[in-house]
Amino acid sequence: MAEAQNFIEQIIDEDLASGRVTQVQTRFPPEPNGYLHIGHAKSMFVNFGTAQKYGGKCNLFFDDTNPSKEKTEYVDAIRRDIRYLGYEWAKECYASDFFDKIYEYAEILIEKGLAFVCDLSPEEIKNTRGTLTEPGTESPYRNRSVEENLKLFREMRAGKYQDGEKCLRAKIDMASPNVNLRDPVIYRILHKEHHRTKDKWCIYPMYDYAHPICDFLQGVTHSLCTLEFEDHRPLYDWVGISLGFSPKPRQIEFARLNVTNLVMSKRYLKKLVEEGSVHGWDDPRMPTLAGLRNRGIPACAIRDFCARVGVAKANSECEISYFEAVVREELNAHAPRAMAILDPLKLTITNYTGSEEVEFEVNQLDPSSPKRKVPFSGELYIERSDFSLDPSPKYYRLKLGGVVRLKNAYIIRCDEVIRDEKGEVVEVLCTYLPDSKSGEDKSGVKAKGVIQWVDAKTCVEATFKQYGHLLKDEEYPGQDFSERMNEESEKIFVGKAEKYLSEVEDGQAFQLLRTGYYKKCTENGALVLSEIVSLKDNFNK
Ligand code: ATP
Ligand code: MG
Repeated sequence: MAEAQNFIEQIIDEDLASGRVTQVQTRFPPEPNGYLHIGHAKSMFVNFGTAQKYGGKCNLFFDDTNPSKEKTEYVDAIRRDIRYLGYEWAKECYASDFFDKIYEYAEILIEKGLAFVCDLSPEEIKNTRGTLTEPGTESPYRNRSVEENLKLFREMRAGKYQDGEKCLRAKIDMASPNVNLRDPVIYRILHKEHHRTKDKWCIYPMYDYAHPICDFLQGVTHSLCTLEFEDHRPLYDWVGISLGFSPKPRQIEFARLNVTNLVMSKRYLKKLVEEGSVHGWDDPRMPTLAGLRNRGIPACAIRDFCARVGVAKANSECEISYFEAVVREELNAHAPRAMAILDPLKLTITNYTGSEEVEFEVNQLDPSSPKRKVPFSGELYIERSDFSLDPSPKYYRLKLGGVVRLKNAYIIRCDEVIRDEKGEVVEVLCTYLPDSKSGEDKSGVKAKGVIQWVDAKTCVEATFKQYGHLLKDEEYPGQDFSERMNEESEKIFVGKAEKYLSEVEDGQAFQLLRTGYYKKCTENGALVLSEIVSLKDNFNK
């Protein structure tokens, strides 16, 4: 294969070549404690993408070992978001599906003398773990007999003890340089109802212990996760080896996706939602997949972004402007064009009577794109910023006595302005050159500027929504995210749009000429144009 392999693919190739595995299976393992974000898109890209590449399978695996934070609402949202990205899972399973098996394996570890019931409190366990430079201290309960351990563990399961009174620990090595191997807790008592198993259990397995078992029972061959699990891999392997798994799933870690101005921690995103800083998990400013979808970002742009960022072993941070550039590229190639005016200024062509229709290419980058007819008359709206009373020498848009071309229509000359009592320009009066129509221009006049417009007689009112980043650029150590909140990240105002925009399907993305990429929506029966991404990169290099 000529295609460049990433390091995960190289490992898989070796495993296939050596016969350690014969087919590839992965899993995408979200914890249903919040909505998925763009970082998870990377994990999906790696897990689903790798399986696809090898003709293997990828399961959707809900890591629901912690009953206190998980909700069915999140399970539903996760499924929806994976489908939005265009991935299909082979099987859907839950850690809780395997609770019986996970429990049986714990008894096997006890029987093998590899796990013991410990009476130390969580606090005492923490305090006897040692440090990075000093070994931990062995628990006084470490050498209980197999019989006693089995009896106590069964009593734990039966509900005889309170939360934190006892736990089950793996018996590994309190002097290991890897703190995760210092007799880690593998089961804890938690009298809490689980969203799926209800009150069946009052003991729950810890993630590090449950995960290799769930991987093995699903037939996962390669368990692809982010770098923070690297130090946990020895424990992952210890579980697999102690329980004799064959073929033992192999954990491979890759770098997290980090993007500037985006916070990708469910805990923080949840805080924003709960405190009402945003309209919900799907607020268009949120880096959640629900938010990105609501924003109007095509799923293929997200997948493409993940592919371009690539799979690496070292953490790094990606500029948000890069993500925006990928989105813009996709929309530029495929989004139909239309016109709208965000800050309207009335323009009257004094020598034009009647009305006509002018032709627009739906997307000039697409040669097969059809043409669309746009109504034109002597009463128009243009952007206030496209007219200047006090122009700089390089100002090529409309000015008194100057000419400009109305996009796909005529060249006009500005003759006069009308002001209100405060002296503000409320209307500009122009004349047009009848023989200057785009495509058949015989006027001989050169207009350097081209501006967009909408026909005042047929246009509709539109509410515009524009978004800035939720987080400001300023960043300093020790800063709380709330101090970086951009309080002006949402701007809402009213302008004008072609009537056509009120007639197209909701959810359609457009390039509003010279303005930006917007998604068409309807709210309470009225047209809303919601910004997806600006037209140009306004990132300061
Ligand atoms: P968060 O810290 O946002 O809650 P998490 O890692 O706890 O994220 P999980 O639901 O446990 O979220 O994640 C499911 C999978 O997605 C895990 O394998 C995790 O490593 C991966 N993942 C989470 N965030 C990122 C990211 N920024 N880049 C790549 N993968 C990620
Ligand atoms: Mg997590």
